[in-house]
Amino acid sequence: MSEDRVSWQPPRLAVSGGGFFPVRQVWCVGRNYAEHAREMGVDPDKSEPVFFAKPAACMHQAQSVSYPPSTDELHHEVELVVFLADGGRNLAAAAWAERIFGYAAGVDLTRRDVQARFKQAGQPWELSKGFDQAAPVGAIQTAAEWSPDSAATIELQVNGMLRQQARLVDMIWSVPMLLERLSRSVTLRAGDALMTGTPAGVGPLQVDDRVTARISGLPVLEFSVRQS
Ligand code: MN
Repeated sequence: MSEDRVSWQPPRLAVSGGGFFPVRQVWCVGRNYAEHAREMGVDPDKSEPVFFAKPAACMHQAQSVSYPPSTDELHHEVELVVFLADGGRNLAAAAWAERIFGYAAGVDLTRRDVQARFKQAGQPWELSKGFDQAAPVGAIQTAAEWSPDSAATIELQVNGMLRQQARLVDMIWSVPMLLERLSRSVTLRAGDALMTGTPAGVGPLQVDDRVTARISGLPVLEFSVRQS
């Protein structure tokens, strides 16, 4: 067998307790917390989960994020991220629990001005979500050690000031329900990540900001924003 003529590696994310998780695909859901749907001008009662993807190459665990080009409005969206050890298609919610490898705190960085312009023009807003370093995540905790419970909170601070805070039970669609819905449209596989949506309070980041994302019981995600 001949060698590859081009070499590359998928993002490899550190797992709490040792080892790495290679990222195959990054799926995302929009409007999964009612208050955030309202702040984006959408009636949550009428909403179905809105799925989209970020390039897998966006996901990383660097301690700083370079402020991206082509935007003046880089927004933070703190999210619970789910990682799959196994996949499938068209599987019921109950089948997904045993396929989850682990969880992490993550931030779905968004060029909000770019997204608004594309939305207004009726064009795809992919580049508002997919850019270098657009998905910082913390260390992954395995599903054997952590799973969402009814008391778990999700929050994000910028320079020590609280910007987003909610309970994971405030999610409109639970993790198994999201995986069931998404697997009706695409085949999910080992290595896939799902960012499960953000609560209210999204807002802009500036150069030199320090971002701290916390989900009860998961490793804390911290990164700074630096000049590109
Ligand atoms: Mn998001």
